[in-house]
Amino acid sequence: MNAAAEFKKDATRITHDLRHRSLIQAALKKYEVARDAKASRFQDWQEARQTAAEIKWDAVNHLDRHLVEFAEKLEARGGKVHWASTAEQARAIILRIVTEKKARAIIKSKVMTGEEIHLNEALEKAGFEVVESDLGEYIVQLRHEPPYHFVFPAMHLTRGEISDLFRKELGTAPTDSPEELTMIARRVLRGKYIAADIGISGANFAIAETGMISITENEGNARLTCALPKVHIALMGIEKVLPRLDDLALFLPMLGTAGAAQAITCYNSLYGGPRQPGESDGPEEFHVVLLDNKRTHLLADPEQRDALHCIRCGACLNVCPIYKNIGGHAYGTTYQGPIGSVITPHLRGLQNWNHLSFASSLCGACTGVCPVKINLHHHLLQGRRNARAQKPVWWEKAAFKIFALVANNPALWAVTKPLARLGQIFHPLIKATPLDPARVWTQSRELPKVAPQTFKEYWRTRK
Ligand code: SF4
Repeated sequence: MNAAAEFKKDATRITHDLRHRSLIQAALKKYEVARDAKASRFQDWQEARQTAAEIKWDAVNHLDRHLVEFAEKLEARGGKVHWASTAEQARAIILRIVTEKKARAIIKSKVMTGEEIHLNEALEKAGFEVVESDLGEYIVQLRHEPPYHFVFPAMHLTRGEISDLFRKELGTAPTDSPEELTMIARRVLRGKYIAADIGISGANFAIAETGMISITENEGNARLTCALPKVHIALMGIEKVLPRLDDLALFLPMLGTAGAAQAITCYNSLYGGPRQPGESDGPEEFHVVLLDNKRTHLLADPEQRDALHCIRCGACLNVCPIYKNIGGHAYGTTYQGPIGSVITPHLRGLQNWNHLSFASSLCGACTGVCPVKINLHHHLLQGRRNARAQKPVWWEKAAFKIFALVANNPALWAVTKPLARLGQIFHPLIKATPLDPARVWTQSRELPKVAPQTFKEYWRTRK
């Protein structure tokens, strides 16, 4: 089955799962209320968005300069920068480092780019033990499934389901206390940090001016991942660079607000190389892997280049009516929701992934909340245009031609009214047929009723 058919099958199945939908929608409702309260703490949220968009525009449009500056500054302090054009190259670089260090155990803190390049699978296949240390990521790793959301990887699970999982995988007693569930994971993970030879992290931002990476988190797991093992590897996309250290004054609270509805996340750290002489902690080696993996293809597209401004806050997922109904796994991609539907065709191939541009109601809610003002719904529309240019659908073309003909001719338009009323009579009959609901649009939706009076008829009744 190809990606489009899988998406359609999974999306249809999940849309019919009312329990799942209400779970997600309840969680996201709480987020929305809290986010609005936090956004109001900014003197002017809209002005902050505009400034953030301009900083990212500068960063992305001068990526060549900023990345070189970042690498030079970091290497001057003993860090090592690796450039990976493809996912294969990034995996090979990381595998080479962990093999040279004769590592056995690896601890990771949330690395979305790691999901993108299937890093865990490659490391496990090579015989290394890999443990995710972010609580949500640890839970989904135990379930052998990918994260459900950028920021809330296990938001689709109830306490009871997590308790059952821990009982089965870790042999712990059942509990529905969130504190107790957290303590169970904490006890297991403490031992893993101490045993790990290598810590692998992502990066929320890379600062060109200072050659440092910035990591923002709530659990302290990234700090332990970066500080305890002898070797720290950070894997990040090349678009994460910001020009100046001062830019964090805007981006850190903005990411906390848009991503987790917090004024600022609990832990915000900067890492700028290995342990320096006289320092008591930190890794002996510090590597940064800068991943392209077709980001430069997106950079070469002037129409959609601003999708590289994304700071992965997940706000567009949280307001998307499609995400709220089909959830994160149905997309079949690392990056879900509106931004995932925009960038995945660029990163993984238009041919196989252009169906995602149609996973949108084009309501524009995503564009309205994006803190860096990416015009997401417009890009989805452009994606549809690109998809149809690549593979025209004859009946769609014919249908729009007929529509244009009828809509431009008042006499023909007048005929549609009785036809629409006639079609409405057959609607219950179509709904009652035992056909596959994924194929029959009307089986899972209510058709709007045709109004008893057209506007023209109504107008004629007025003097
Ligand atoms: S596109 Fe905008 S809203 Fe969506 S994850 Fe990226 S920064 Fe956040």
